[in-house]
Amino acid sequence: MGTDKRYDGYRSFDYLKATRDFREFDLLDGESLFEPYLVPLDSRGEKRVHELAQRLVMISLHEHPHLFPKRASEIPDYDSEARVSTAYEALADSWWDCVFDNFQDGACFITSKSGWKWEDVIYDMGMRLCDLAHQDFIIKAEKVEDIHRAHRDGRLALVCAQEGAAMIENELDRIEILYGIGLRVLGITYSESNALGTGLKETGDGGLTSFGRRAVARMNEVGIAIDCAHSSDQTTLDTVECSKHPIFLTHTGARGLWNIRRLASDDCIRAVAGKGGVIGIEAAPHTTVTANHPRHDIEGFMEHFEYVKDLVGIDHVAFGPDTLYGDHVGLHQVSAETLSIGDSHKPRDGSEAPEYERVDYVKGIENPTEGSKNILRWLVANDYSDDHIAKVLGGNILRVLDEVWQ
Ligand SMILES: [Zn+2]
Repeated sequence: MGTDKRYDGYRSFDYLKATRDFREFDLLDGESLFEPYLVPLDSRGEKRVHELAQRLVMISLHEHPHLFPKRASEIPDYDSEARVSTAYEALADSWWDCVFDNFQDGACFITSKSGWKWEDVIYDMGMRLCDLAHQDFIIKAEKVEDIHRAHRDGRLALVCAQEGAAMIENELDRIEILYGIGLRVLGITYSESNALGTGLKETGDGGLTSFGRRAVARMNEVGIAIDCAHSSDQTTLDTVECSKHPIFLTHTGARGLWNIRRLASDDCIRAVAGKGGVIGIEAAPHTTVTANHPRHDIEGFMEHFEYVKDLVGIDHVAFGPDTLYGDHVGLHQVSAETLSIGDSHKPRDGSEAPEYERVDYVKGIENPTEGSKNILRWLVANDYSDDHIAKVLGGNILRVLDEVWQ
């Protein structure tokens, strides 16, 4: 039921009055700043795509499905208000049945300009979840059955996720508090190191700390899935080894194709897959570039998908495009430091960063709606079987969640 969703017109914070109760921003709502693009198909392909979109459970392993200000210069003020609008209408037009929502991540600046504070994360999640509680199109997914229910009922399942665990500081019990609020995926680190382990931007690599090992055990016991997409190589390898369950790299690509720290090494991809885990392919601007596609677009993104599939098999790859409704390149510019954009785009081995063409947006996969349609269209255009499409668009993720969430 990815198409024809049951959306009733609710918009974020409809239960309050804008200006009187909160500061209003000029959000990118229903329009696109960029040229839309659809992967072309013949009439047989069109028919097959629509039949698959209806039948399959389609899951995005990593998004920020929010409305952003039209002007990127307003993003820091918008973020610090902690009143982020969920893109209900645009998501109703997407083919995703389930999105993993990663909230404001490193741009959560409510009491701090550096991000990842406990109070700020609670404020961000609490406010968004209050808004979600006032509507019935999006289901807050806390069990695997919630995802199947959303698919059956023409709704959208939203999984609460956080990209790094800096906010738990040295408090293991905060893992349970986050679970209680609804969190179901937690990253070990964001790009900088924290009490759990080393982040991907660091030049040294100490791997998972002893506190990190205790945190992994607690996440396993509580039933939170683990994400190492922003962790260092050694932290990822240590986490795979010490976790009782498979883990995710929710949004990454292959360093074997494009040599930057932000993407995963072959060793890490093999280790995660070897434990039964899943690697989600990333589409944030200037990440999944390749030598064949130095101008970032859906073709380069899919080249990373095929590389990972060829390396570890169709059962261990999925999509975590990491897109949003707004100016993603503009966001990277205004929050370059807290999102670690510069460091994460350098090679780990200290060599020169590879040359690529700067883009204003990623053609074909610019936001969650366009991405949901074009990923499926690309797979059909490239003759993937129904069985393989079902695995990479949801089945592989559900297999891991069935084990981790219990
Ligand atoms: Zn990220």
